[in-house]
Amino acid sequence: MSSKADVVVIGGGVVGCAIARELSRYRLDVVLLEQAPDVATGTSKANSGILHAGFDCEPGTWKARLNVRGAALYAEIAEGLGIPRREIGSLVVAHSDADLATCESLLARGRENGVAGLEIWGADRLRAHEPSISADVAGALWAPTAAVVCPFLATVGFGENAIRNGAKIHTECGVTGLVTAGGRIVAVETTRGRIEARFVVNAAGVHAADVARLAGDDSFTIHPRRGEYILFDRSTGALARSVLFPTPSKVSKGILVSPTVHGNIFIGPNAADVDELDDVETTAPGLDEIISGARKIVPDLPLQNAITEFAGLRAAAGKDFIIGESPIVKGLVHAAGIQSPGLTSAPAIGEAIAEILADLGLKLTPDPTFVPVNPHRPKFTEQTPVEQMARIAADPLAGRVICRCETITEAEIVAAIRAPCGARTIDGVKRRVRAGAGRCQGGFCGPRVTAILARELGIPVTAVRKETLESWLFYARAGLEIREDIDA
Ligand SMILES: Cc1cc2nc3c(=O)[nH]c(=O)nc-3n(C[C@H](O)[C@H](O)[C@H](O)COP(=O)(O)OP(=O)(O)OC[C@H]3O[C@@H](n4cnc5c(N)ncnc54)[C@H](O)[C@@H]3O)c2cc1C
Repeated sequence: MSSKADVVVIGGGVVGCAIARELSRYRLDVVLLEQAPDVATGTSKANSGILHAGFDCEPGTWKARLNVRGAALYAEIAEGLGIPRREIGSLVVAHSDADLATCESLLARGRENGVAGLEIWGADRLRAHEPSISADVAGALWAPTAAVVCPFLATVGFGENAIRNGAKIHTECGVTGLVTAGGRIVAVETTRGRIEARFVVNAAGVHAADVARLAGDDSFTIHPRRGEYILFDRSTGALARSVLFPTPSKVSKGILVSPTVHGNIFIGPNAADVDELDDVETTAPGLDEIISGARKIVPDLPLQNAITEFAGLRAAAGKDFIIGESPIVKGLVHAAGIQSPGLTSAPAIGEAIAEILADLGLKLTPDPTFVPVNPHRPKFTEQTPVEQMARIAADPLAGRVICRCETITEAEIVAAIRAPCGARTIDGVKRRVRAGAGRCQGGFCGPRVTAILARELGIPVTAVRKETLESWLFYARAGLEIREDIDA
């Protein structure tokens, strides 16, 4: 565990990992602290996965600037970092003249924000593009630069690259205190010891206000706003070609129907204020709300093909992101209140935070050894039969399919565990390689993934966790032997 750093980043979501990766370009000691066993366990694991084009943010805000810049950065860097991204465009679907007027004003706003390619489509063009869409549509706003991305692999991709360039990521390391002297941050207290730090970046998601208060900064509060989702299996992929938004409301972009980057379809999210910072339950009324909302866009939803539901929490803190030095504590820099489009903006937030730190006196000397990409790890299913045979010949584990729904091999799982910023939990494996993300949701491969994790991490299966610090799935019963061998 590090005892000293130039910059400590608190929070291993997409924002914290993107900041750590950006800072790893420079000759700096950068340490990221995450309280959970893995990165991408907060809001970054449960969102719509859309790289927004940037037409709905109020011009002049952080959101508007960082959304457009972030989307452009992903287009440049996603492939090299191993972040799946598909540029499928988005449509804001209008059902009435009033909706069309909203689309016109979004188009004007998007042009002001510098979004390229925006167009208003009539109903016929919309129906030709989206055959499953409701019969009563009046037209749409088309944004060709919108894309879908894997939010887990975005976070992991930034985190892995930060580590490859010298940053350290400590998981299971909760920040419990911020130490100040003369109004300046000097150290961070954690569950694993103290780290002296010149600068601290607060990227703690819905917990960012609590983290700020550890230093006596009560300049903002965060109100969690939950969004629930239903995910369908890949047989439904033809329901939507592009991201289908309704015309937006004041509090959210509304309930959408969208492809994921992996070819599934999801519907959601709704927007419900909740009291607890960890309330990610799905509810019957919430699911009813998203089903009826989504049916306004695509009436025939194959609900029998739903494979899971989940929810994420928006870190609602006001109209714009809170980015900049704390007004109370010098050296403490917030990347807080990062609601949507936070996933899209993340790499641009990294750039903005680096600039702010430089203005505050941090010397940014480029590190000539910086490598901007991660090693390419081809998916077994995307290889040709000849390549697959060669891979199996070189590594027999490539010939063992562990997840049957998604055809994920043991070799891919092992690589995901052994990589920098590697998986430490069953969900960590699922989010990196999709073992357990298919139709059976881990019913078949879950015990096998558990055994592989136990073997690779050198721990008993009773110590393997699903996701959170205390999410063990197995316990030893007196008189029963636990078999660690998945072939048994
Ligand atoms: C329903 C919904 C839909 C969304 N859809 C989109 C979308 O389509 N496109 C888009 O661009 N954005 C979207 N967003 C927004 C996007 O998901 C967030 O802006 C982004 O994930 C925020 O990332 P983060 O790193 O700030 O927070 P998080 O991912 O929550 O990470 C914060 C991390 O800090 C850690 N932490 C907290 N306290 C401590 C502590 N004391 N010590 C150590 N670690 C700590 C947490 O464990 C957590 O891992 C959506 C959000 C929601 C809720």
